[in-house]
Amino acid sequence: MTQTPAQHTITVLKGDGIGPEIMDAALHVLDAMNLGLQYEYADAGMTALEKVGELLPAATMDSIRKNRIALKSPLTTPVGEGFSSINVELRKRFDLYANVRPAKSFPNTKSRFPTGVDLVTVRENTEGAYIGEGQALSEDGETAVLTQKVTRRGSERIVRYAFELARRTGRKKVTVVHKANILKSTSGLFLRTARTVAAEYPDIQCNEMIVDNCCMQLVMKPEQFDIIVTTNLFGDIISDLCAGLVGGLGLAPGANIGTDAAIFEAVHGSAPDIAGKGVANPCALLLAAGQMLDHLGMTDKATKLREAIIATLEAKDSLTPDLGGEGNTMSFAKAIAKRAAA
Ligand code: NAD
Repeated sequence: MTQTPAQHTITVLKGDGIGPEIMDAALHVLDAMNLGLQYEYADAGMTALEKVGELLPAATMDSIRKNRIALKSPLTTPVGEGFSSINVELRKRFDLYANVRPAKSFPNTKSRFPTGVDLVTVRENTEGAYIGEGQALSEDGETAVLTQKVTRRGSERIVRYAFELARRTGRKKVTVVHKANILKSTSGLFLRTARTVAAEYPDIQCNEMIVDNCCMQLVMKPEQFDIIVTTNLFGDIISDLCAGLVGGLGLAPGANIGTDAAIFEAVHGSAPDIAGKGVANPCALLLAAGQMLDHLGMTDKATKLREAIIATLEAKDSLTPDLGGEGNTMSFAKAIAKRAAA
């Protein structure tokens, strides 16, 4: 008997640059897996600016609010006064407080660690040094100041998210990364709050690490990490460092998760240098789609998708040029789809 999959409608943002190419490839794979997903297409960024004169149209916001799930390709942020990043704006408007970035070793990449790395960075996504307020440059242009904001509530919910993620996914250890020795107020509050939350999870090992030591440890011995939880700025830097450990941007997905909505995307940008050539690696967006399937409770399908990606990399089947192959975006996606649908 054929099983009818559950129906979920997701908002799809094709983005710009390589966005539409990798999204078409990713949807090809998802369609081949017969997941029962319906797509509601919406515009943001340059395409929206051209069509309706706005970077983030109300219709797009409404679609995400209604469906609560979006799969998003990269968006180009126009350079110049008056344009704020749409990605930052989406995080703010939907209070997407958890930025969740897995980094896992994959075969046949240029990584120094083809095995052994399997960690997740959980970054606080709404506070810290990125609040936007409290930035000032003195009139003579000689002095700049920045305000950081850390709250007990913000720290509590991100640390709790990390521990719940550990429980849900069978991970064993959470490393709290901070700089409380110097940033005594902000990082100090984060660390103290993290200790209180950690006490509620005796089944999960918790350790603490100062951010500079953490960076060195990641480069020397990344296999010691399981889940890392940290504040906004440290998480931004650490998660890119982790992407570099496992083969670069073409394989780095990220989820932005809030209470009312979640947006899944590749970590990389719109790659204008290769846009339109059909050679972009679709894996980062596909791995983000895997996180989305986990979020929707379709864990078996998410695992199947990840296994198909690994098997395709192992077989060096139609890999894109960034991975040293001679395939293209769609041939790579087709090779993955064949395995994911089997
Ligand atoms: P980028 O990530 O677009 O590109 C950096 C390098 O990585 C380029 O050489 C590019 O060709 C390569 N690359 C990126 N993705 C790839 C893929 N899937 N396959 C193969 N190679 C890939 O970074 P950038 O050039 O600094 O940024 C370009 C634009 O993207 C900017 O406007 C920036 O604001 C935007 N951006 C958007 C997001 C987002 O939407 N989440 C994230 C980062 C940057």
